[in-house]
Amino acid sequence: MSNKERKISLTKRVILGMLIGIATGFLIRTFLSDIAFVSDYIVHGFFDVGGKIFIASLKMLVVPLIFVSLVCGTSSLKDISTLGRLGGKTVAFYLVTTAIAITLAIVMGNIFAPGVGVDLTAATTFASQEAPSLGSVIINMFPTNPINSMAEGNTLQIIVFAILFGIAISASGKAGERIASVFSDLNEVIMKLVVMLMNLAPYGVFFLMAKLFTTIGLDAIANLLSYFLVLSGTLLLHGFVTYGILFKVFTGLNPLIFLKKMETAITFAFSTASSNATIPVTLETATKHLGVKNKIAAFTVPLGATINMDGTAIMQGVATVFIAQAFNIDLTMGDYAMVIMTATLASIGTAGVPGVGLIMLAMVLNQVGLPVEGIAMIIGVDRLLDMIRTAVNITGDCVVTCIVAKSEGELDLNVFNDPNAGSTDEELHLHHLK
Ligand code: ASP
Repeated sequence: MSNKERKISLTKRVILGMLIGIATGFLIRTFLSDIAFVSDYIVHGFFDVGGKIFIASLKMLVVPLIFVSLVCGTSSLKDISTLGRLGGKTVAFYLVTTAIAITLAIVMGNIFAPGVGVDLTAATTFASQEAPSLGSVIINMFPTNPINSMAEGNTLQIIVFAILFGIAISASGKAGERIASVFSDLNEVIMKLVVMLMNLAPYGVFFLMAKLFTTIGLDAIANLLSYFLVLSGTLLLHGFVTYGILFKVFTGLNPLIFLKKMETAITFAFSTASSNATIPVTLETATKHLGVKNKIAAFTVPLGATINMDGTAIMQGVATVFIAQAFNIDLTMGDYAMVIMTATLASIGTAGVPGVGLIMLAMVLNQVGLPVEGIAMIIGVDRLLDMIRTAVNITGDCVVTCIVAKSEGELDLNVFNDPNAGSTDEELHLHHLK
C-alpha cells in the first residue's frame, strides 16, 4: 500500500465504498437496466456474490465473538454483584429508550398525520403472528443445549450461557485463571479477524449498495412520501436529539465526539440492515474508539443488538398511526399504551436481522385490532427505512453502553477524547505471512 492510500482512514474508505455503490446502482438502473448481460452477470452475479459473501463473513464472527468476549468480560469482574447491577441498569436503559422512541413516533405520527387520505390499495398480503407472552420470552432465554443455541445463533441464550461460564471461571481458582487467559488470547485473535474483515468492508459495502440501488423499487416512495418523510424525520430526530440529550445528561461528555466515532458502525448498519451482523463492528467501535472496557461492552452490545431496537420501535409507532389513519380507525389512549408496551416487549428476543421489524409490527397491530394487511401498504418502502432504523438501533446500543460504562467508571476518557483512537488497530500487518 502506498503512503498516500494509507492516509485515507478506514471509515472514509467504507463511506466512500457506500457512496460509490449507491451512485453505481443509480447509474446502472438509469442507463444500463435493459442490458441482460449487466443485469445477469454484474448485478445479480458479481455484486450479488460479493455482497452475500461479505454478509456471511460478518455473521460468521458473531457467535464466537459474543461468546468469547462475554466470557472474558464476566470472568474479569471482581465480584458477582457487579453483574446484577450492570444487568439491571442496562436493561432498564434499553427499555426506557425504546419506550421514549415509540412515544416520540406516536406523537409525530399524530402531528403530521401521514395516513390521512391515503389510497388503500394493498399490493400483497401479510401473514400475522401472535405476540409472545412475557413468560415465554423469559423462559426462552435459558438454553437447554448451549451448542444448539450457538448453532442457531440465539443471542440471548448464548449471553446467558457465557455469563454463567464466566462466573464459574472466576470462581475456579488456578484452573479458572488458566482458562481465563486462554479466553483472553482467543478474544485477541477473534478481534483480529474482525479487523481483517473490516479492511474488506469498503468493497463489501460497495457490492451491497450497488446491487440494492440497482434493484430496489423506488416508485413506492413517491406514493408513500408522507409516511417515508415522517418516519425518517423521527428516526433522525431520535438519533440526533434524544440520544444527544441522553448522552450529555448521563455522561457529561460531548455527543458530537460520540457521533463522529460511530461513523463506521453506522455505515455498516446502514448497508447490512442488520444489527446482528454489525455486532463485530459495534463492539470494536465501543471498545477501541469510544473507550468502553470490554467487560461492559461485551455484555451490553450483543444484548442491545437483540433487545434494544429504538429505530424499529419508531417505525412501529409511525406505522401503527399511519395504518389507523389510512383505515379511518380511531385509537384510544389505552390503545397507544398497549402499542408502547407490546412493541417494547416484542423487541426483546427478536434478533436484529433485516425486515424483522415488520413481523413485530404485525404483532403490535394484532394487539390493538388494526388490520395486519396494512403492512402490505408500507412493505414497498421498507428496505430503505430498515437501513436507517438499523443505524439508529445500533447507535442506541452504543449510547446506553457509554452511559453504563461511565457510571461504572469503565469508560476510558483518554480513548474517548482521542480522535485517532483505534485507527492504528485497524491497520493489518500480515508481513510475517509472506
Ligand atoms: N433490521 C433491523 C435490525 O437489524 C430490525 C428491523 O427493524 O427490521 O436492527
